[in-house]
Amino acid sequence: MMKIRIKQATGLDHARMATFGFWASAEAPDTILVRVPAGRDFRDTLKFLPAGIIRHEITHLRQMQELGILGDSFHYAYWLENIVHGYEGNKYEIEARAAETDTSIEYEIINKGEFNV
Ligand SMILES: [Zn+2]
Repeated sequence: MMKIRIKQATGLDHARMATFGFWASAEAPDTILVRVPAGRDFRDTLKFLPAGIIRHEITHLRQMQELGILGDSFHYAYWLENIVHGYEGNKYEIEARAAETDTSIEYEIINKGEFNV
């Protein structure tokens, strides 16, 4: 059971995610950042956040834990994979995409004080 926090992406995180077209992004050690579209509300966005996206990002959090402290080693390894194999062929993305439909991946959202989902 993975314990995770979900937070709204702001500032540079939001800009980076919008640039690359990502709706969610993993942030070591346990957080998933969610990009809220213009004119939408964070809580409203969470209601429609598919479990598959959460499982995808949980897989990246686990990859970060396996590769090293604070995710830095993961980011180097991840971008090297992108350069060599492209986004579609990136082994970390292949694993994360496979996890999207893996209902055996269990998680609990633990930032209860900040919002209720
Ligand atoms: Zn991914």
